[in-house]
Amino acid sequence: MERQAVQRAREAFLSGRTRPVEFRLQQLHALQRMITEKETEISTAVKQDINRSQYDTPLLELIGIENEIKLAIEKLGEWAAPRPAEKNILTISDEVYIQPQPLGVVLIIGAWNYPWALTLNPLVGAIAAGNAAVVKPSELSEYSALLLRALLPRYLDKDLYPVVIGGVSETQDLLRLTFDHIFFTGSSSVGKLVMEAAARHLTPVTLELGGKSPCYIDKNCDVRIACRRITWGKFVNCGQTCIAPDYILCEPCIQGRVVECIRQTLLEFYGADPKCSPDYGRIINQRHFNRVMSLMEGYTPVLGGQSDASQCYIAPTVLKDVPPHSRLMQDEIFGPLLPIVTVSDMDDAIHFINEREKPLALYIFCTDKKATKRMIEETTSGGVMVNDVMIHYTLSSLPFGGVGQSGMGRYHGKHTFDQLSHHRACLVRSLGMERVNLARYPPQDRRRARRARMALKWIRAILLFESYYLCNLCSNVHVTQYFCCIGEDKGITVCNNQMAAES
Ligand code: NAD
Repeated sequence: MERQAVQRAREAFLSGRTRPVEFRLQQLHALQRMITEKETEISTAVKQDINRSQYDTPLLELIGIENEIKLAIEKLGEWAAPRPAEKNILTISDEVYIQPQPLGVVLIIGAWNYPWALTLNPLVGAIAAGNAAVVKPSELSEYSALLLRALLPRYLDKDLYPVVIGGVSETQDLLRLTFDHIFFTGSSSVGKLVMEAAARHLTPVTLELGGKSPCYIDKNCDVRIACRRITWGKFVNCGQTCIAPDYILCEPCIQGRVVECIRQTLLEFYGADPKCSPDYGRIINQRHFNRVMSLMEGYTPVLGGQSDASQCYIAPTVLKDVPPHSRLMQDEIFGPLLPIVTVSDMDDAIHFINEREKPLALYIFCTDKKATKRMIEETTSGGVMVNDVMIHYTLSSLPFGGVGQSGMGRYHGKHTFDQLSHHRACLVRSLGMERVNLARYPPQDRRRARRARMALKWIRAILLFESYYLCNLCSNVHVTQYFCCIGEDKGITVCNNQMAAES
């Protein structure tokens, strides 16, 4: 079944129909139509999967997908065009450019926590880049997976973009097949298995993984506003967000105030009993419910802690003075538990972060610009955000992805297009000027080699003497007006590369 779907996708890709930009645009428009027309069904499916509010799915997933599609439609001509490249002395009269090309068949493996964004955002880039794509949604978000399988062939080319449904064994079967790129979103442990399987075919991978994203609150910032933003980011989707703040780092002197501000915010967001709030979600299944509950063992929460196994409900929970080496601080929590770990100052926080695996996101709440800059410079993470959480994910211009254990590769906007394209180096020269090449052909002797070196030195000197020119259109600095730039006489300096791109 999986094998046949992949085979059909490959044959469809090899037919060449994804090559024209017009075909890709038509598929992107169809995907956009699908999101618009099926918004209610999609939101209902997510509600059935994780009890997410009907209003949240458009905000948390669909608007982002639509923006990615709109951007790809608007920019595809530019992204897919040959990109002029700088030349050296030896290639000064040649045509030199980088041509983005489709890779072939991409396997997209999604996670369940944002079942639509995590499959469709990579798909947008795969379509834009001219690839075929096999989509494997998570089996845990079952309703969304089944709906995706029903919808996609109604809107998109049936052979190029099949949806394969299944769990671990089906994914393992898929991973035995040959792909041209694997785009995986999920846990670090499964990410390692995916990479191992990909290595057997030397298939490149993008791994969008998780990890513990720290959130530092400086004692001088507005703790009330900081906690409001953190509370939203931590408890939306019931804490099951890869870039949710995993834990708080703050000085002991503000810990009490942090707890109090989170308490007030929770009351405001979800009322006195979050279990009854239509805005508060559930844990995906019993296994994850037990996993999250077990992390709390031995602790008395300062806020929340209530649960109901029959509904996979865990209340928004805050734990204070959590020891740095406790179980809660080992693995990604991926649930509605928010530990607070105290540090003595910002230096201590930086040390704490750097001692651990590189996180997917780092959040800094601080109004001192110099201190903030220092924290950004002295730590690393997939992304960093100051004075809010998770919003960096919504920007298509920023590359989204991890570093180290939190993943490899990046996507969103043009980054997805580039990630799923081959950047082919192209150099086109004429068969003329053969005399210039004589110096590199055998037989060589010392005299010829010296003459060639001298000639190169002379050419370089002439070029430098002609000085540097800034191309008004492509904004690159070119070595000389004489060889690179034309149009100076007409009052503007425009380089050959730009002229080629425009013609
Ligand atoms: P997961 O790793 O269990 O599953 C992800 C996908 O892998 C699913 O489609 C599943 O069917 C498949 N899979 C599971 N076990 C497998 C195995 N042994 N062999 C082959 N395939 C297998 O992850 P999850 O529980 O679906 O998602 C939660 C994790 O994903 C968290 O760690 C979270 O941080 C991470 N995540 C990361 C991002 C990101 O963008 N970086 C986004 C969402 C979730």
